[in-house]
Amino acid sequence: MPLTREEAPGQAATEKKSSALPWIIGCLVALVVLPVMIGIIGLLAAIAIPAFVQYRDDTQSTLCINNLRQIQHAKEVAAVRNGYTNGTRITPELLEPLIDGGIKSLECPGGGVYRIRPIGTEPECTVHGTISGLQAGDADRARPAP
Ligand SMILES: [Zn+2]
Repeated sequence: MPLTREEAPGQAATEKKSSALPWIIGCLVALVVLPVMIGIIGLLAAIAIPAFVQYRDDTQSTLCINNLRQIQHAKEVAAVRNGYTNGTRITPELLEPLIDGGIKSLECPGGGVYRIRPIGTEPECTVHGTISGLQAGDADRARPAP
């Protein structure tokens, strides 16, 4: 006749003891490994996130400077065609036919607004500044003029 659990209570207690040891070791390993993994992930994030932000800012500046160059070119064409001199104010409507897709198609990827500014001065982005400021490569100097 085979033994049942009720007939051998000591056997069940032995099984409980032997199954608790791997669980405790697993908890101890988790207590050591988990903080290490969190630290490694945090370190990688601390390295990668500023680099990604810098790449994004550089890309936005490049796109913005291309837009500003198109506006500057259109201003120069308008000045030559109409005989404008330095200081002459230019309206967006005057530049509309001189820019492919119209001046409204030029949007700053950083959310800035373009100021055309008079002939003889560079167009400006409220976020990125002017063409010469952006070309200098110094983000602090590329701030909009007050
Ligand atoms: Zn911009």
